[in-house]
Amino acid sequence: MDEPIWGFYSYLSGDYRVKKEMYNDISIEVYYQHGYNVDQMIYATKRSLEYFEGHFTPYQYRQFRIIEFPRYQGTFAQSFPNTIPYSEAIGFTADLRDKKNIDYVFYVTAHELAHQWWAHQLLGGDVQGQTMLVETFAQYFALMVMEEEYGEDTMKRFLEFELDRYLTDRGGELIEELPVYLVENQPYIHYRKGSVAMYALKDYIGEDKVNAALNKMLEDYAFKGPPYPTTLDFLADLRQSAGAEHEALITDLLQKIVLFDLKVDEVAVTEQDDGRFEVTMDVSLAKFEADGEGQETEVDVSGLFDIALLGERDEETDLHEVISIEKYQIDEKSDTITIVSDVKPHAVGIDPFNKLIDRNPDDNIKSVGS
Ligand SMILES: [Zn+2]
Repeated sequence: MDEPIWGFYSYLSGDYRVKKEMYNDISIEVYYQHGYNVDQMIYATKRSLEYFEGHFTPYQYRQFRIIEFPRYQGTFAQSFPNTIPYSEAIGFTADLRDKKNIDYVFYVTAHELAHQWWAHQLLGGDVQGQTMLVETFAQYFALMVMEEEYGEDTMKRFLEFELDRYLTDRGGELIEELPVYLVENQPYIHYRKGSVAMYALKDYIGEDKVNAALNKMLEDYAFKGPPYPTTLDFLADLRQSAGAEHEALITDLLQKIVLFDLKVDEVAVTEQDDGRFEVTMDVSLAKFEADGEGQETEVDVSGLFDIALLGERDEETDLHEVISIEKYQIDEKSDTITIVSDVKPHAVGIDPFNKLIDRNPDDNIKSVGS
């Protein structure tokens, strides 16, 4: 090792085949038995290195190794310094031919590589919120590479999955649901809600500003000993970077438990004399703050919400084409929005990508004429 590492390493042995490819000075190596997705792992590694090194600090080792282990040891991958034990069942034998599924080989590879920054470059203090600095940030890195690779429209699938898991699993909480910045060992928060919250931050505040705050953390704390950072340091950096106008959003996403109930009630489309289409939609909105036991209090809903006109659903990916998507300031619990469009939409949506935590995300999109 060229840098000191945590006393955290793994032993694997097997009758391996090896595939190696260079990315700049980094040797990407996959040790495997099942070859189906090895090229995709190498590709995902290169794409991730490109994004992570392009926006953040350099990768710190001379090699990056993915090593297969048998499925009877579980369905996980784990990030040790420059080495990722990676289960046969979570990627090596994945069938990625159905485009309706998330490319989890790409996602898991990006997430584990991201831990070389979030855990191996910077590690938080052993207090509440530590897993946000590890898992939530690794999720964010992976999401950003996936968005670059697959496009913004495809993120809906991933966000929908994360949101669904969060909503389901918070129901099984036995002690107390915590806001993201105080998360303990609660995967439904540090992975699932964390992904949705970081993506919303990026969407509302801007990728550059979120990245600047993360970079500040790396600059201040990477490869350093105590005192270790906490999520309070990140919140301060984020607020500095985002500016005062995003104060409430940051508080809602990371420091409170906030839930929405957004819905398209009605939609009507009429063709105008000039051949364009007037789209009128009635939307209803509600916003709640929950305490750690799940007791909800309704609060003022005012805010910016994505309103979209959507085209046909793509058979192969099962996603709607996006005609337009724009944020509207809405201050009431129900509103009527009128948009004139050159193209006749097939459906409309309020927060159709599930960027916000919506208790019932299935009614955010409504087909015209349904
Ligand atoms: Zn992780």
